Amino acid sequence: MLRDVAIIGGGITGLWLLNLLRDRGYEAVLVEKDGFGSGQTLASQGIIHGGVKYTLSTVTTPASETIAAMPKRWRDCLAGQGDIDLQGVRVLSDNFYLFTDHRRSSKITAFFGSKALRGKVEAVSGTAIPLAFSAPEFAGGLYQLEDLVLDTTSLLSHLVAQYWDSIYDREVELGIKNGKLVGLHFVDGGSLHAATYILAAGKDNGELARQLDIPVVMQLRPLHQVIVKGRDLPHIFAHAVTMDSGSKPGLTITTHQVGDGRNAWYLGGDLAERGVTRSPEAQVRAAKQMLATLLPWIPLDDCEFSTWRIDRAEAAQAAGQRPDSPFARKVGNVILCWPTKMTLVPLLGDMVLQHFGEPLDYDPPEASCLIEITQPEFGTPPWAR
Ligand SMILES: Cc1cc2nc3c(=O)[nH]c(=O)nc-3n(C[C@H](O)[C@H](O)[C@H](O)COP(=O)(O)OP(=O)(O)OC[C@H]3O[C@@H](n4cnc5c(N)ncnc54)[C@H](O)[C@@H]3O)c2cc1C
Repeated sequence: MLRDVAIIGGGITGLWLLNLLRDRGYEAVLVEKDGFGSGQTLASQGIIHGGVKYTLSTVTTPASETIAAMPKRWRDCLAGQGDIDLQGVRVLSDNFYLFTDHRRSSKITAFFGSKALRGKVEAVSGTAIPLAFSAPEFAGGLYQLEDLVLDTTSLLSHLVAQYWDSIYDREVELGIKNGKLVGLHFVDGGSLHAATYILAAGKDNGELARQLDIPVVMQLRPLHQVIVKGRDLPHIFAHAVTMDSGSKPGLTITTHQVGDGRNAWYLGGDLAERGVTRSPEAQVRAAKQMLATLLPWIPLDDCEFSTWRIDRAEAAQAAGQRPDSPFARKVGNVILCWPTKMTLVPLLGDMVLQHFGEPLDYDPPEASCLIEITQPEFGTPPWAR
């Protein structure tokens, strides 16, 4: 049977595009070989950024301008008024903060008071201060951003539930004839054919593009995240800012439920980028040192520390720099996609939709071509392992 679209990959990119296309009447299907989100999506911190963190060294960058509209777009979706209806998706935190220790406060206060950031960053005081920062020992500055944090498992579950009957948990091989993709062959028999194929396979896009001779190079940026699990860990959704680490926050903290009554802090930012060459033990030591400096009033003696290595997969940039925008390129009947960040997926959706005209007239399936649909499981986030 000929579909309009076949999507390879069941992370945020594939599932977002499946929903976007099906909502608009395209006959789209998706294949996922492992669990949904088992690549980068469930390992992400789930932050929907407005880009302020990229302004920490220079006031405006292309990255900050591209990303600025994203929190509103996602909030519209969560309210049922956006590109995709995300009503019911769990929001872990409706607020995101920047904090600094007292030695940096005055420099940062002046910076955040600058015209370019007015309205995007608000100083927080009084009863608006979250519990974790209400300790008398906290003498730094605290600022609220427009960012929010989503529960990525809830997000993916929602996107799967809308079109569960269009998803296959099969490993596929590319059917290539004369350099052109003509179908996806399931290794255990059967095949899928589509007018357009979307490669949304994250890190595996590199190999798929190579097989299809698509002249696009992928870059991997490794990260070494840290997980702290403890029974009384307060909820923190914040960047710790020093203004010393170039354009990146020194530490980015999100909080997640482990499922055994404990909370987990998931630590990224500069700690995770610089820590790629450290052993897990050295990375845990570095994290403990940072936390003792930044949040000395929170006892961590009974907490369990571990680390998680994962690569970000993106379109290659000069000198391995961070891309500013999502990537979608159509080559023949294939669209190759990397969102760069989960936050930017709505923009990626716009770029992909530009390649589609009216939905095709759907060919009714012939009985001999039907493939049994079985759904993949969900992947496991690093803090729940
Ligand atoms: C540690 C970390 C933290 C991050 N934090 C944030 C954040 O806070 N905010 C933000 O905006 N972004 C964040 N990101 C970036 C974000 O996670 C990624 O940009 C996004 O998840 C990429 O989604 P994806 O669907 O393209 O790829 P993936 O999530 O990697 O999904 C690809 C899927 O394709 C499947 N697949 C691969 N090959 C095949 C095949 N042949 N057949 C079928 N299926 C296949 C895989 O099994 C996988 O499920 C973070 C990334 C990391 C690594």
